[in-house]
Amino acid sequence: MTERHPHKAIRAAIAYAEERGWRCIKASGHAHIWGKLLCPLSSPDGCRFHLHSTPSHPEAHAARIRRAVDHCQHGL
Ligand SMILES: [Zn+2]
Repeated sequence: MTERHPHKAIRAAIAYAEERGWRCIKASGHAHIWGKLLCPLSSPDGCRFHLHSTPSHPEAHAARIRRAVDHCQHGL
């Protein structure tokens, strides 16, 4: 990942996802979507999570990232 998310809690959640084989893809040209996380199953059936640039509740957004990672059944 070349660019870091501006919010610390969300950066930590992204790192949590990446440790479990998820990939972080930086979006371009979106005002509200910072990027997305893709689960280890790299197919349309895999899980994905859209990362908001400036979520109104960053801690809650970070918690949802971790929950999505924990619920993924496609782990390494
Ligand atoms: Zn998955």
